[in-house]
Amino acid sequence: MILDSFETRPTRFHDVSQDKWGSWIWQQQNRLRTPEDFDGVVNLSEPEVRAFIDASNMFKVAVTPHYAALMGQQPSCPIRQQSLPQVGELEVWPFELEDPLAEEQFMPVEGLTHRYPDRALLYVTHNCPVYCRHCTRKRKVANPATTSSNPQLDSALAYIADHDEIRDVIVSGGDPLSLSNARLATLLRRLREIDHLDVIRIGTRNPVTLPQRIDDELAQILAEHAPIYVHTHFNHPREVTTQSVTALQRMVSAGCVLGNQMVLMRGVNDDVETVLELNRLLLRHGCRPYYMLQCDMAQGITHFRTPIQTGLDIVAGLRGRIGGLGIPDFVVDLPGGGGKIELTPDYLVEERPHEAGRELRFRNYAGKEYTLVDVVR
Ligand code: SF4
Repeated sequence: MILDSFETRPTRFHDVSQDKWGSWIWQQQNRLRTPEDFDGVVNLSEPEVRAFIDASNMFKVAVTPHYAALMGQQPSCPIRQQSLPQVGELEVWPFELEDPLAEEQFMPVEGLTHRYPDRALLYVTHNCPVYCRHCTRKRKVANPATTSSNPQLDSALAYIADHDEIRDVIVSGGDPLSLSNARLATLLRRLREIDHLDVIRIGTRNPVTLPQRIDDELAQILAEHAPIYVHTHFNHPREVTTQSVTALQRMVSAGCVLGNQMVLMRGVNDDVETVLELNRLLLRHGCRPYYMLQCDMAQGITHFRTPIQTGLDIVAGLRGRIGGLGIPDFVVDLPGGGGKIELTPDYLVEERPHEAGRELRFRNYAGKEYTLVDVVR
């Protein structure tokens, strides 16, 4: 069942009108940041309180009332795990990296990573409505001192304009929809003016954590620069709310092409049924499951990491139960800037020589075996 966050709003917000609840500005201004703010929302467990005190110094806490309204009363609730500090964040592992994807190393100008020849990643802000505990960019997200200044953005855009091998720009952050509409409109206009760009993408978790942000005015801006490819970040079916569905519909109507990047996390979404339910909901509302990302080797998120085999088992379990549109690529972003690789289940059972090349025996999603002659000339 799809939740409506206004209907499930905690007692703390019972007096809030539907109009206020629907205002993204009100949602931003009333974010929950301290343990006391959660009175009348959830009863924090003792480990959550301890983690709040110790871990929030390392990475800020902010939760929109909308997202808080999705929390269950158990600490194992997937919404709580993703937004409330966890004791696992305090555990330090020697292999963890501050910048797991070496984004700073491939930064020719401040605020822009150019790793693959044809793509560039542009960081426009380090603010987000909710600070996700699994964030891979904890080193700078939530730190206002690292937000792009106008000259920094100018030089990043000049770099893109000077490099005609760049055909695809991903506007990222933080959450780019934390920018004002005016700044966003200017940014999209300036990107559209660069003739060699084929693709403009925006990576945002606002449809999940602050869906009210996708209002008519923003939809109009997106429509003016269509098609904008929007990567959403839904991790659990509980996050697909009435408000999120409205946000997705507005973006689809504005000509956006939607794809979801789910992060695979222990205890949050590391089973076939959860991913299947999420992906069915997303497809129903025009958002294609695009990536299922293995959690990076970032500091303070090891407690979320799952064995690689878990991701492979989920992909194999989805096959046969949902069409290919609902099966995301299971991707590992290699540490040190190696880039993304896609991992797939191994369906090959046996290989034998054949007069035309080789004979391959495969096992399908249902466990049945079939032989295919692979013609090799
Ligand atoms: S919205 Fe994205 S950038 Fe912001 S905290 Fe969450 S994962 Fe990190």
